[in-house]
Amino acid sequence: ASKEKGKNQTTLCSSAMKEEVLQQTQLTNSLYRALERNEFVLYYQPQVSVETREIVGLEALVRWNNPELGMISPATFIPLAEHTGLIIPIGQWVLETACRQNKEWQAMGLPPVRMAVNLSTVQFQDRNLLGIVDRTLSETGLDSKYLELEITESAAAEGDNHLIHVLHKLKGLGVTISVDDFGSGYSSLSRLKTLPVDRIKIDMQFVRGIAKGNKDEAITKTIIQLAKNLNLNVIAEGVETESQFDFFNKYKCDEIQGYYFYKPMPASEIESILMGLTKPG
Ligand code: C2E
Ligand code: MG
Ligand code: MG
Ligand code: MG
Repeated sequence: ASKEKGKNQTTLCSSAMKEEVLQQTQLTNSLYRALERNEFVLYYQPQVSVETREIVGLEALVRWNNPELGMISPATFIPLAEHTGLIIPIGQWVLETACRQNKEWQAMGLPPVRMAVNLSTVQFQDRNLLGIVDRTLSETGLDSKYLELEITESAAAEGDNHLIHVLHKLKGLGVTISVDDFGSGYSSLSRLKTLPVDRIKIDMQFVRGIAKGNKDEAITKTIIQLAKNLNLNVIAEGVETESQFDFFNKYKCDEIQGYYFYKPMPASEIESILMGLTKPG
């Protein structure tokens, strides 16, 4: 009987898997055409100074506006793009668009802010990365001090000497480096010592537990203290409530990024905010 059951489960499972594979294949096919069809859009989420409550940075977050499926989250298509290698041209498009946009806002006389761009591990393995960043900066005319590159903690943890070498070269261009989703991976502490980074971004999972009286508060305080001891800037991601904000204010976290102040928004809305037409809160 148990053999019979096992067989049925296999059949059920494999038809669900076929469906899944079919969907992924169709999504991959449309992903291949998405760049030339101009279907990617950048949203920008402000990063706010805890002390002054002013916007000091923006994070570029890509969305895929698919004509059949609507807006697709990067959580869905970035893994697919990494798997197919499409992350290289898509990542290049993101970098160029974000730098050009930031330069344009500065040329309009808006207050200059940092622009953070997420880089996939796959991009760090690309031997052209340094050249791409260098060329993008010169082609867009953006001063390198206004570009920040985000590396995920998992990439940083896996990192070998090649990664450290590339990070040093990137920093040589004048850009800053931040470690995204800090605390979500492993071996963070020993890696931080060797990686040439400027900022750590506290993973949202710890922020969720703040002001609920659980252990996330102790962990978060420790990460902030660690950053200070290592002379790194620290930013909390996913801050949604006033009590979470109060916590980061109390423990002197440098910056926050989260719905409490701003959600990711299209360029036109960011432009209005930078023009001072809209104030936070
Ligand atoms: P991430 O880099 O950690 O970006 C932060 C994510 O948290 C964003 O999700 C943002 O919308 C969300 N978020 C910010 N504040 C809050 C908040 O207060 N509450 C909640 N619930 N969420 C908040 P998004 O835009 O869906 O991006 C998801 C992930 O996709 C990013 O995580 C990043 O890993 C990846 N990603 C996005 N754009 C790019 C890109 O251009 N290149 C690469 N390689 N990855 C990207
Ligand atoms: Mg990020
Ligand atoms: Mg993050
Ligand atoms: Mg993330």
